[in-house]
Parts: sequence; structure tokens; C-alpha cells
Amino acid sequence: MGTGKLLGLGLTALKSNFSQLEHPYKLTFSITYGCQSRCLTCNIWQIKPKGELSLQEIQEFAHKNPYFRWLEITGGEPFLRSDIVEVIRAFKETSKGLYIVTMPTNSLSNHEMIIGKIRQVLEMGIPRLSITLSLDGYRELHDKIRGIPGNFDKVMDMYKRLAELRKQYPGLFVVFGYTMSKFNQGLFEKTYQSVKELFPEVTYNNFHLNVAQISDSYYQNGELDIRPDRKELSTEVESIVRKRHFELGAIPIVEGAFLKKLVDYIKTGESPIKSRSLDASLFMDSYGNVYPSIMWGRIVGNIRNTDFDLMPIWKNADAEEVRKLIKDGKEPNSWTACEAYQSLVGSIGNLL
Ligand code: SF4
Repeated sequence: MGTGKLLGLGLTALKSNFSQLEHPYKLTFSITYGCQSRCLTCNIWQIKPKGELSLQEIQEFAHKNPYFRWLEITGGEPFLRSDIVEVIRAFKETSKGLYIVTMPTNSLSNHEMIIGKIRQVLEMGIPRLSITLSLDGYRELHDKIRGIPGNFDKVMDMYKRLAELRKQYPGLFVVFGYTMSKFNQGLFEKTYQSVKELFPEVTYNNFHLNVAQISDSYYQNGELDIRPDRKELSTEVESIVRKRHFELGAIPIVEGAFLKKLVDYIKTGESPIKSRSLDASLFMDSYGNVYPSIMWGRIVGNIRNTDFDLMPIWKNADAEEVRKLIKDGKEPNSWTACEAYQSLVGSIGNLL
């Protein structure tokens, strides 16, 4: 079952190298802007969301757009949405080949509840579920950046529980999501060692790196001074990349390519390759607004205005204009995992 869906995802990604796709295969969906963190790098936690999409509306959207093979759920904190299992089920039941679901968590909600919900998602039979545990530093540093005393210990407890759950469900993958900013510059190794002391089996490959990004539309952090020094950061990332071990498989290969290009992005400040926004993928916020990507705050439509059918938005003049901007190399610079993976697999020469 999983092999067929992986093949479907792989063939669609391959096809995106040669032609414009009829439908996107990846949806990045912020299911809520609610968040209990108090991060120094992001202002989402200050939003008091109102009027977010209801479960019924999401079910309608999933029903009318059954082509997503990759669902990246984000927030806010996704587990603050009590119907998160039903949201994922809506896509699982309607999609013709959903292969992978990814989700981050700040580990601040009740852990029994989170594990219970993850177990329910795993029981649906989606071949791959990847949970990213946000972790930006060793104990004192993480708690300071995230603004919540005790958060580091909660992340460690969450990891322990998920590692246990993985013994029953090999389709479950767990990584630490490390966001690099001026607050933790030069401190990755100390963070890594603090985790390794508790869990000796953890390797550098268990850390997923991202650079803190500025976005008025998503993080709403335009006024924050969070950027690390480029030169120091590129040296730090290069050193981490060297310590990773080689892993076979499509996802580790794409991850390796992402990191190499991340160094280029840090050095130049420019996107290393053109994105596949509004071709392979899109970003949708919790109000149904559709954007080219998570970092590009240009709304091209809202699914509430199209009876939850994405295609009228996909084919409208705004979407066409965005595609032309991308073609002409005029899209805003960024390099985040949310967008980079489909750009890499849609530009296969960059993987080799
Ligand atoms: S970075 Fe994530 S956890 Fe932190 S405030 Fe923003 S949404 Fe919440």
C-alpha cells in the first residue's frame, strides 16, 4: 500500500520536472494560529484567531480537491485544534494517494492527549507520519527563546514517548526542528550534546535545520531583529552538514540537498533555485486564504469564495501572474523546508 503511494508521489514529482502539473500534490496548511509559546523569533502567539475554517469546511475542501499526496500541517500549534485527527482523516479519506503527513509541535499541550491523537492518525494507515519537535537550544536557551520555562524538558519527554511509539509504528518519524536565529547562533553543538546525553541514539541526522525567517504575513515578525550573522551561520551549518551520516532513501537525499543549498542561501541571501509555488504546492492559512508559499504573503484567493474548490483560484489571473513572476526570477527570496523539498524534486539536477 505504502509503496504504491510513494511511487505515485515520486512519479508526480518527476513529472513536475518536465511540465506544469494539472493539480498541486503538496498542501501546506496552517490549521490554526493559536499558540501557547512566546517565541522571540515569531509573533504568531500574539494572534487571537477568530473565524478559522471549521472542520466541516475543511472536509468540504478535502472532498473537492482529492489530489494531495503530501500534507504538511502547521500552525500556530496544530495540537491546539481538538479536531486535528478528523482534519487529517478528511484528507486521508478523499485523497487518491496521500503518502505523507508532517506536523510540528511545541510539545506544550498535554502529552497523553498528543500521543493519543498521533496514535489515531497512525491507525489510519497513512504510510509516513513525520513529527517535528521544535527545539532551539539546550535547556536554558530553549526555554528563553521559546519564552516558556520547562519547555525543554517537555520536548525531551515528548521525544521519549514518540520513540517508544515508533517501535509499534515504523511509519512514524521524529525529528528535532532547530530554528537558527541570532539567539542561538554558534550554540547548536551544545544543544546537540545536551540531547545526546539524554538519548545516546540521537545523531545529527535527527536534527532538521531552518533559518529564522522574516515574514509580515506568516510570522508577523517584520519588526523583530532575529537574523544571525551570515558568515558565522554558514560556517556553523557547514560543520553540522559534515557531521551527518549518509542515509539511503529519497527523503534523506532530498534533506541532504536542502542543507547544501541552505548554506548557499545563508551566504547570498538569495533563493538557491526557483520555487514550485502554485505548481507543485501552495500554502493555505486557517481562514482559507491561498498563497503561493508560506513566506510569500500574496493572497491569490480564498476557498470560501469558490465553494471550497481550489481550481478556480488555481486558474485565476493572480495565480498566473505569480507563476510569471517565478518564471522571471522575481519571487521573494527564501529557503524553508516547507517549500524547498518540492522545488528540489521538481529540479532533479539539483539532487545529484
Ligand atoms: S514559532 Fe511556532 S511555536 Fe513559536 S510562536 Fe511561532 S507558531 Fe508558536
